[in-house]
Amino acid sequence: MKEELLRISQSSVAQALATDYFCIYYVNTDNDKFVQYSASSEYEKLGLPTKGDDFFSFSREYFEGFLYPDDRERFLDTFTKKNVVDKLSRHRKFSMTFRMMFDGVPTYVHLKVTRMIEKEGHHVVIGISSVDEQMRAVEAYEKAHSDSVTYSRVAQALAGDYFSIYVVDPDSEKFVEYSASREYDLLGVEKGGGDFFNLSRQNMSRIIYPGDRDRFMAVFTKERVMQILERDGSFTMKYRLMFGDRPVYVSMKATLLDDENGRHLIIGTNNIDAQMKREEEYHARVEEAKNRAKNDFLANMSHDIRTPMNAIIGYTNIAKDHLGDPEIVQNSLEKIGSSSHFLLSLINDVLDMSKIESGRIQLSLGDCALDSVLRRVKDVTAMQARNKSLKISFESTGISHYRVRADELRIEQVLINILSNAIKYTPEGKSVELVAAEKSLPEPGMSRYTFTIRDTGIGISEEYLPYIFDTFTREQNTTINRIQGTGLGLAITARLIQLMGGNISVKSRLGEGSEFTVWLDLEVLASPVATEDTQAEEPPDLAGRSVLLVEDNDINAEIAGMILQQYGLRVERAENGKRGVEMVTERGVGGFDAVLMDIQMPVMNGYEATMAIRNLGEDYYRSLPIIAMSANAFDDDVRACLNSGMNAHLAKPFQPDTLITLLGRYILQR
Ligand code: ADP
Repeated sequence: MKEELLRISQSSVAQALATDYFCIYYVNTDNDKFVQYSASSEYEKLGLPTKGDDFFSFSREYFEGFLYPDDRERFLDTFTKKNVVDKLSRHRKFSMTFRMMFDGVPTYVHLKVTRMIEKEGHHVVIGISSVDEQMRAVEAYEKAHSDSVTYSRVAQALAGDYFSIYVVDPDSEKFVEYSASREYDLLGVEKGGGDFFNLSRQNMSRIIYPGDRDRFMAVFTKERVMQILERDGSFTMKYRLMFGDRPVYVSMKATLLDDENGRHLIIGTNNIDAQMKREEEYHARVEEAKNRAKNDFLANMSHDIRTPMNAIIGYTNIAKDHLGDPEIVQNSLEKIGSSSHFLLSLINDVLDMSKIESGRIQLSLGDCALDSVLRRVKDVTAMQARNKSLKISFESTGISHYRVRADELRIEQVLINILSNAIKYTPEGKSVELVAAEKSLPEPGMSRYTFTIRDTGIGISEEYLPYIFDTFTREQNTTINRIQGTGLGLAITARLIQLMGGNISVKSRLGEGSEFTVWLDLEVLASPVATEDTQAEEPPDLAGRSVLLVEDNDINAEIAGMILQQYGLRVERAENGKRGVEMVTERGVGGFDAVLMDIQMPVMNGYEATMAIRNLGEDYYRSLPIIAMSANAFDDDVRACLNSGMNAHLAKPFQPDTLITLLGRYILQR
């Protein structure tokens, strides 16, 4: 039977019983079987049975003989099974204090019943401890303060939970200690008398942890404590006490009791060391995880930036050393080009990720033509697939609404990310496909769009699959295969989809291939949208047009200048905004066909220069195309450009044809 009862775990028992007990019983309240778990030698001398079948009749029968006559009736009335079960159905524990006779001497004991949280059956743990010394102090105090019975009640109620309790008369500063745990007793603190605050401060200066002393001393004066109590109703303070050479966290709580017995301060202190240690450990763990993430991030970034930079610098040197060999130069330029693109996509990913993580990314919802999105996705990825000799197919099934309300660019980014991965992680000769489908939802005007991207590539291991959407994680075999990547793409993809209210899932088998499924619930818009034609446009004819390039950086100015000249444009340069405004003014109306404007420049920035040009008076200055060409590429920067009066924004670095198309759009439409 002991085994059966002992299914209650020892640690939960230990938790239930914080202090030293005289005797502990376990009772199964379903069948009333009990077992005595530990007992002090005095208690053992009583010769009570250590186990039995009916705890409540046992306790009444045997206890009756050991109860102090004055307390017998109260004990027998209270300690019935019905009462105990009833009380425990409302509270986790209850306790009572009464006197037992030990060797003919009445001794105060405290009996505490705690309900165990157990799945199987109902168990209670009953602990009996001696509170004789404390109760004698109470008796003495009560004798001195004739009718203050209230305090013994207070003390009884709190005795189980507190490590020491003082009742203090705030006017006379007389005090009495009502209960204290054995550990607290060992600190050798005075048990009663007068001059409470001074005595406490003296005691504390001896037993408090040195690091907490000044703070304690500054606050724990009668004036300060009373002031806080009057203002807040209670006063609490956490500090550490030295138990030998070990600091232990305690929490002190003072309340002011104001009743027919007058005003009294009740000050209880309890041991919160375990709780504080847990909190400290938790904070340390969080801090450590944060540091680890930061270090990992820096290590990853350093590695991921250095790798393509190494290629760029290395191949630049090789090309320089072999200027006479067009094949080597060509090969070096290709490597420089692809490493630069990788570096740019890394920077874009990192910025995207940090914007997502800091909650600064916002969807820009608008009219979205899904067929154009799919066509652009196809244009970009079909080329990648062709370069790798992969079969790629695109299919749309049952899509009746191509026009939806969504963030077009983000949907495109998500699909390109997943498809590019499929292409990247699928060897030559295998296949990749995208299937898009629409299903109407019960909610009117809403449809669920599903995009399934399948490949017959290298697949993903079961172990890695749960981490696939985490930042900077990459599967071992993709790093071993030296396939370039940052481990950010899918993390961004998943977060963007989440932001759009959708979902992404993945199925994969190593060596067989993977299938990513994205669904998005989107509002469908009524009429079919006139979709834009994404056939590669012929570059516009801008020969002979004149452009003012406002740019402080010589290299950037040279690159832009060369591209513009290549397309037959005439270029003049101003090295800051102020000079730009002067040149536009000097030339007068019709002087330039467009202005390309950098933003961050010395003397005068691009925003100020634009505003100055727009304010020059003539209509020409208000309609002159001004296009920002800037490395400040966040949404906020784009908005600031448009707000200052610019027509468009082009992020650096840019592709030559994008610049020319944009210029053409504004110059030719004027
Ligand atoms: P990466 O820049 O490394 O491609 P991603 O976040 O896009 O980063 O993907 C994380 C990892 O998931 C990749 O490194 C790769 O190991 C794995 N992975 C993603 N897509 C596929 C796929 N279609 N087939 C096999 N493995 C994939």
